Amino acid sequence: MAYAYDDQNIFAKILRGEIPNNTVLETEHTLAFRDISPKAPEHVLVIPKGPYVTFDHFCNAASDAEILDFTRTAGQICKMIGAEPGEGGAGFRAITNAGEDGVQEVPHYHLHILAGRPLGPMLL
Ligand code: 5GP
Repeated sequence: MAYAYDDQNIFAKILRGEIPNNTVLETEHTLAFRDISPKAPEHVLVIPKGPYVTFDHFCNAASDAEILDFTRTAGQICKMIGAEPGEGGAGFRAITNAGEDGVQEVPHYHLHILAGRPLGPMLL
């Protein structure tokens, strides 16, 4: 499938600095910032800077450097928000929604990292 990236999506505007964000960490290929409508005391969105629509798009099309940078940044976020299970934190949930069935609101790939309260069973 071909992915059509909409460069007017809200995260593209954040990446271009057209709208503000609450940045937690920025690296060469990745930006992590707080969700505007947090679903937990800690709710961070990790996004690649490249124009990827979904998780599978990113995994299949991004460079090794982008994927490594993204993964390391996500790991760093877990440390920064004190969420690492067994290392002082109580754990976290990392999820990504994709497409219509996944109820993806913003069509720029993002990983949600949620922590800071018992999150309950994953809803299906
Ligand atoms: P999705 O449903 O696409 O997985 O999640 C999109 C997320 O982006 C939602 O949790 C929503 O609260 C968040 N969001 C939407 N618009 C903005 C915004 O302008 N700034 C920030 N920081 N988060 C946003």
